Amino acid sequence: MRAVICGVDGCSRRLQPVLKVDPRDRDTWVYPECDECGRPACDEHATVVDGRRVCDRCRRAAGPPLLDLGLDRLTGPG
Ligand SMILES: [Zn+2]
Ligand SMILES: [Zn+2]
Repeated sequence: MRAVICGVDGCSRRLQPVLKVDPRDRDTWVYPECDECGRPACDEHATVVDGRRVCDRCRRAAGPPLLDLGLDRLTGPG
């Protein structure tokens, strides 16, 4: 029995399967993972971009560092 764990930024959150192809065979269970590197990533450390799930590690590697400090969110819905 293996646990699938998010390994982004030292995270050790245990992931829940999103799809159980065969509920009795854990090898067929599908876990949320990054579409870029194929490594498991929890919701907190992965973002869906253009329909692809990309972990924080790959997002940092793909683009320039974003200064997401909420400065552009002065006018937003709630
Ligand atoms: Zn990744
Ligand atoms: Zn995580």
